[in-house]
Amino acid sequence: MNIKNSDKLYIYNRENRQCFFCGKTLKCHQITLDHYIPKSKKGTKDVFNLVLCCKQCNKLKRNKIPTNYETTILNLFLKAVQDNHITGCSIKLPQKSLKEDLLKVTYIDSLTDHFIFQSNTKKFYVRNNMVFKITLVSQN
Ligand SMILES: [Zn+2]
Repeated sequence: MNIKNSDKLYIYNRENRQCFFCGKTLKCHQITLDHYIPKSKKGTKDVFNLVLCCKQCNKLKRNKIPTNYETTILNLFLKAVQDNHITGCSIKLPQKSLKEDLLKVTYIDSLTDHFIFQSNTKKFYVRNNMVFKITLVSQN
């Protein structure tokens, strides 16, 4: 599936047209998008799993999952929430409350074909930059 142009533009601007890994400023023809968690490892095309990457770094990284992926993905997710790039899908919650809730997430619960971000009280299931399910964290 293709990455939406609006998502690409968002990522170009977020990274200021620099390679996420080496910081090199990229000309248009040098830009590649890297799945931070590789597609082959069920990495999604959510904006928080995509980073700008020069061809050299992309080659070096290959299909490895970066060891610090949780922190990076979490930070990129929180940034996307701040930038109103994460929305609710069939969630009965105003966007403003959803945003406030999402900014409280502190870790990634598990890796499947979607992401689960968890705060102290709730789990948010995210796919295609959309929250499609919210569950409460059991308190025991
Ligand atoms: Zn690079």
